[in-house]
Order: sequence, then C-alpha cells, then structure tokens
Amino acid sequence: MLRRWQQAWRDWRRRRVLEARAIPDELWLETLRGWPFLRHRSLEDLLRLRELTSLLLDRKEFSTAGGLVLDDAMAVAVAAQACVPVLHLPGELDWYDGFVGIVLHPSEVVVPRQWHDEDGVVHSGDEVLAGEAIEGGPLMLSWQDVRLGGRDGRLETDQDPAYNVVIHEFVHVIDMRDGQVDGMPALPTRVQRERWQAVMGEAFARHAAEVDADRPTWLDPYAAQGPEEFFPVAAEAFFVAPHGLALEFPEVYALMRDFFHQDPRLHAR
Ligand SMILES: [Zn+2]
Repeated sequence: MLRRWQQAWRDWRRRRVLEARAIPDELWLETLRGWPFLRHRSLEDLLRLRELTSLLLDRKEFSTAGGLVLDDAMAVAVAAQACVPVLHLPGELDWYDGFVGIVLHPSEVVVPRQWHDEDGVVHSGDEVLAGEAIEGGPLMLSWQDVRLGGRDGRLETDQDPAYNVVIHEFVHVIDMRDGQVDGMPALPTRVQRERWQAVMGEAFARHAAEVDADRPTWLDPYAAQGPEEFFPVAAEAFFVAPHGLALEFPEVYALMRDFFHQDPRLHAR
C-alpha cells in the first residue's frame, strides 16, 4: 500500500514540477534550432524530452564562473542535451542523482596537474578542460564548447564527426553511477556485461591502433585515451552523428542502441 501511495505522490509532484517549470514555446524552439540534433526524434520523444528537461532543471543547481552571466536559454540548452541519453533509460533522471551542481565557465578551463610516470618521476603541466564530471559533482562545462556542440559547430551532415561536451560529460556520469569510471555502465546481466566488454574492447583497440599509427580517424582521437573516454566519445557520435558511427563502428552503434533504447538514425538526416 505504501508503495502505491509513494507512486501517487511522485506522480503528483512530477505534475507540479512540470507546471511550475514549463519551458516557454519560444525558448524551447530556440533551443531546438541552436542544437539541431535534439530534433532528430519522433514527436512523442520530443514531448518527452521537453518534460524531462523541466524535471532536470528542477533537480539541478546551475551556477557560473569567470564572469559568465547565466540565463534561462543556457540552462535549458544544457539540460535538454543532458536528457537525451537518459530519455529511454529505465530510471531516467535517477542516473544523474549523484550530483546537484552544474558550473558553466565562459571557455575552456586550465587546470594545473601533477602526475608520476612509470619511473616514479613527478611531472607537472596544465590540462585544458572543456568539461569535467567528477563523482559527487559539480559537473563543469565550458559554455563556448557547449555552443560548439550545436549549430555553431557547423556539423554539415550526420556523418560528420561529432563534438558534444554535454553528452560527453553526462555519459561520464552514467558510467560512474556504479562507482567505477571504466567505460562500462551498470548492466543488469552477465551476458550484457560480456557483450559490452567484447564490443567496446575490440573497437577501442582498433581505434587506439589507428591513433598510435598517426592515421586520421573519423572518431575523435581523444577516445583512444582509454576505455573510460571511448564510451563518452562514442556516445557523442551515437547521438549527434549516428549515420557516421553506424558506418564506422556498426557493433558499437548496435550496442548503444540497445543500451540507450534509442535509434537516432531513424530521424536523423
Ligand atoms: Zn571525458
């Protein structure tokens, strides 16, 4: 009985949030125009995306750094893109429960880093970040890079290489939900986990070999950094340039389609 009561309360609360946080038509259309890949779905999915965006805006706290002035259009643009991967994932926004804060910087952030090499020698240098997801948050994004993931990035066709920092960082969050940043999300069955490792392992090795050999690759060479980067980069391609990914890595495309319960090719050009 308690469960049913809880569900009823949740439904009521969801309706309240959707009313209170409804995204005005003009703002929503502006977002779809700015990030055209958002439109590559059925009308039903678009309505669902708009609702989920309101719900995410209710759950997260946006802030800015470096003098950037936050407005509704920026928050909606980030939230709408962040909702794409979880649109049909069971549990939808629960995948993002591990953090609350989203911090937008005007452009890339330079972070001083120190690391040990194989001989134990300490090196230091700057790392340039377009975004960063860490366990517990906050999630950091360069607004300039968020814009590059949209119309400003001038993606000519859906076969061109993808770049989308919002998808990238939120897929890191999906990956780390099980407490491990290893390029494999929580999967319910052993068969699924084995398939994931086989498909992604093979694709990663092939891509890393191309990058090591200095050959030009369709997929962002950054994916060769490690399996934990291959997953978010492949997911960027899956949602933004699905035809290209399906041509380059058909098994990866099929794996993503089954995991995300979406087939972006159906509505993309
Ligand atoms: Zn990354």
